[in-house]
Amino acid sequence: ADSSGAPNSRTENSRELFERASRIVPGGVNSPVRAFRSVGGTPRFMVSGAGCRMTDADGNTYVDLVCSWGPLIVGHAHPHVIDAVGRAAAKGTSFGTPTPGEVALAEELTARTGVDKIRLVNSGTEATMSALRLARAATGRTKIVKFAGCYHGHVDPLLASAGSGVLTLALPDSPGVVGTDETIVLPYNDVDAVKRAFAENPGQIACVITEAAAGNMGVVAPRDGFNRELAAIAHADGALVILDEVMTGFRVSKNGWSGYSGDTADLYTYGKVMGGGLPAAAFGGRDELMSRMAPEGPVYQAGTLSGNPLACAAGLATLELCTDELYAKLDATSVTLQGLATKALAEAGVPHRVSTAGNMFSVFFTDADVPNLEAAQTQDAAAYRAFFHAMLDRGVYLPPSAYEAWFVSGALDDDALGLIADALPHAARAAA
Ligand code: PLP
Repeated sequence: ADSSGAPNSRTENSRELFERASRIVPGGVNSPVRAFRSVGGTPRFMVSGAGCRMTDADGNTYVDLVCSWGPLIVGHAHPHVIDAVGRAAAKGTSFGTPTPGEVALAEELTARTGVDKIRLVNSGTEATMSALRLARAATGRTKIVKFAGCYHGHVDPLLASAGSGVLTLALPDSPGVVGTDETIVLPYNDVDAVKRAFAENPGQIACVITEAAAGNMGVVAPRDGFNRELAAIAHADGALVILDEVMTGFRVSKNGWSGYSGDTADLYTYGKVMGGGLPAAAFGGRDELMSRMAPEGPVYQAGTLSGNPLACAAGLATLELCTDELYAKLDATSVTLQGLATKALAEAGVPHRVSTAGNMFSVFFTDADVPNLEAAQTQDAAAYRAFFHAMLDRGVYLPPSAYEAWFVSGALDDDALGLIADALPHAARAAA
């Protein structure tokens, strides 16, 4: 993927920033996949965004199909969101007391999802960590089941065969992690493996945690009935189910995968979209479980900035824009992009498989069916690298990893779709 001469290939300022950052920040980044390690090249330092576009430190502009890894469902700097954050900021950034905004956001979340009670936290990692603690406390058990390729944040016991950056960097078992001896890792979409795990560990498993639809090994939807069957198996043994909706929540439908598919769980985790680009996340479930949380019950969990007024304002303003019309538009845009990618890759003779979960999708560079991590790993990483850079140089920002979802926003307009349509054949030829 030689980028010389392509319209978006200026990287002088990003390179300088990256060099400065690399002297004082590990790998030059504050979250690993941002470093472009698996695709190579200089990570682009963004300085501004508006709608579906963002601009980097060298003045290159990109149509954004990452959307900050999911949160920016209405695009960058949406006036309604910026106005809400500005008004909140003018009144003070944090109080360490209850505030009206967090009540409003929690009411919106419970109304959308139907869960009884919600606790607000700052990141998806905190949400899954806390849900896990609650599941262990409620059952008095310690073992947990997770699926290979699912990512639930950098929570110690969940960093076993995890997806996302851990997968991208091939670090399935990070040094420094403890507690994964209590974690049973199973292949995704394999009901028999779930049955066997419960048969081999009767009365010992606290919970099964699963991405509501997997998006961190690339997008891999649960097979029809998979989430329901694993819940039945878990419940028969007295274990709980945590549906991790951090990525899918409020993205694939007004409430998330649960609303989209009818799958239900005992506990749910949310993040990304519900914070509107600021740090807000949540976990929730039925009253009987959530009332075990301190100060109502004994299970401890807390946060200096939890329910932060700016984050709640951004989240609430974003959710106000998450209407039926928005989801219809996201679905249609997603189908359009899938069709464009398929056409370009087929014409260039590149083996590929578009894999969807609602409006989330990714393109695997393999022609095999992809039901799990093992299958996802058969893809041609070098082909993705070439494809990624050809798109980048033509002004389309894709995830800098072959194992991540492509995210659409409501801000994608006809010009942006036209630019993507023009870029795709070049990128497909580069990947051939
Ligand atoms: N759960 C899922 C499904 C995710 O996709 C992520 C992040 O990508 C997390 C949890 C962790 O969220 P955060 O990065 O906000 O800690």
